[in-house]
Amino acid sequence: LGAKSIVTDSTAGYHMTHEPVTNPPDTPNFLDNSFVRSATSQWIDLKDPATNQQVTRVPESTDEELRQAVDSAERAFPAWKATSLLHKQQIMFKLAALIRESMDRLAASITLEQGKTFADAKGDVLRGLQVVETACGITTQIPGEVVEVSKDMETRSYREPLGVVAAICPFNFPAMIPLWSLPIATITGNTIVLKPSERTPGASMIIAELCRKAGFPDGVVNIIHGGKRAVNFIIDNPAIKAISFVGSNQAGEYIYERGSAKGKRVQANLGAKNHAVILPDADKNLALNSIAGAAFGAAGQRCMALSALVTLGRTDEWLPALVDRAKKLQINGGFEPEADLGPLVSPESLKRVEDLIASAEAEGATILLDGRGQRPAKYPNGNFVGPTIITNVKSHMKCYTEEIFGPVLVCLSADNLDQAIKLINDNPYGNGAAVFTRSGGAAAKFRKGLEAGQLGINVPIPVPLPMFSFTGNKKSIAGTGSLNFYGKDGLRFYTQWKTVTSLWKSEDIGTTQSLVNMPK
Ligand code: NAD
Repeated sequence: LGAKSIVTDSTAGYHMTHEPVTNPPDTPNFLDNSFVRSATSQWIDLKDPATNQQVTRVPESTDEELRQAVDSAERAFPAWKATSLLHKQQIMFKLAALIRESMDRLAASITLEQGKTFADAKGDVLRGLQVVETACGITTQIPGEVVEVSKDMETRSYREPLGVVAAICPFNFPAMIPLWSLPIATITGNTIVLKPSERTPGASMIIAELCRKAGFPDGVVNIIHGGKRAVNFIIDNPAIKAISFVGSNQAGEYIYERGSAKGKRVQANLGAKNHAVILPDADKNLALNSIAGAAFGAAGQRCMALSALVTLGRTDEWLPALVDRAKKLQINGGFEPEADLGPLVSPESLKRVEDLIASAEAEGATILLDGRGQRPAKYPNGNFVGPTIITNVKSHMKCYTEEIFGPVLVCLSADNLDQAIKLINDNPYGNGAAVFTRSGGAAAKFRKGLEAGQLGINVPIPVPLPMFSFTGNKKSIAGTGSLNFYGKDGLRFYTQWKTVTSLWKSEDIGTTQSLVNMPK
């Protein structure tokens, strides 16, 4: 690496305002434990979603830089694989402590680049940190199995790393999603090339700096940047054995198919349409507060956002109370302390969301609460849209068939629980669903009848903690999803079994004994 291109730090400090910075630094690559300025001529402008002022430029890493990242990871692999488990564990403990110490700095980067509120951004970091902390338990997670299969013969299995692995991340959880991969991939002995979203790379760059501080040797963690070209490089490079992808169906289905065809192990978490059902016996306050938070929080840019509501019986009469709650939510720049939801990530996202609301109107649905055109006075140029509630939605309408990924709740109705379950199961996505009820029987029926992979019972966003796995299914994953992100499946994804059968004849002890007794 050319010494001139090495940058000492990713981001020296941080500030917690949306004030524009003059001459903001470009985002570097992270290669072989160094921040390296890109030699590219193609840069992607990254703008603060609250103001649309420039935050940084993100490189389309050059072919040479992409190759350097993989070479560095390949070089690091043998020694890292051979590093003692306890040493790797110590590094992971250190990383966990550093992330906790750097929580505000990481969250500030997320708010600035992604737009979510600072409190929400801290949650993003926390959920990633929990995966790091769980990875510290590797000493009891990784052991293989041993069976004495016959006299003097035993079979023993070992979990071995795959080699160089890659992670391709989306914009919406800039810390949590890179941390779904990095800790588990590395603690199991792999080296990693990570490509953050070109829209939100800042948190990954800080994490890289913390990895270096924690003691990861050169080349174990590398970060490259870009869009489809960088992704194609990852898919096609033969040294990369596995790809962890989280993002849209369009990108993920392509990566899954092309990556699998190249013989790679691929896990891919995709889009969603998550439903909530309110039964008439539900705790009204709990249900409405939960739904308002889960539909509109993070401006709806969560893969587990509750974006479709099914009212049952007379619970449609509760909708005006939901509108009241939604109206009270403050839309503002994410650093504003009173902000409940920030802007959408980009002007393109804003246009897509507004177009989908307009399509609902055109198809005959009712816009009960319209968030279009809502802009906080202080941020007239941001990508803001307020909470929006659409009623009289039918399952053929575009606002229902497409993932909106904005603070928009579409409302449908069902006559009974069976009908509600059928309606949800007819939807091709299967990330999550929630029911609000006081009846154990109804909850059990919901649990047994629903196809979606992550269910909440009086819990709006049932994302499993890292001792479990993220278990979306149907169109919310590519392939069969038998190797989900994190938890036991995550460990399986990043390791392969080696099974050794050995025979040591106990009669041979005689020879050994005579050697021991040999005169000196
Ligand atoms: P995206 O698919 O646009 O981008 C994700 C990654 O893929 C980025 O790194 C991007 O550079 C790359 N990419 C984009 N287009 C590509 C293409 N055509 N070919 C190859 N690579 C491409 O997704 P996004 O907008 O960043 O994230 C939002 C989506 O992610 C939503 O659909 C959301 O539901 C989904 N998501 C799913 C989960 C989950 O666990 N199921 C979690 C978070 C987000």
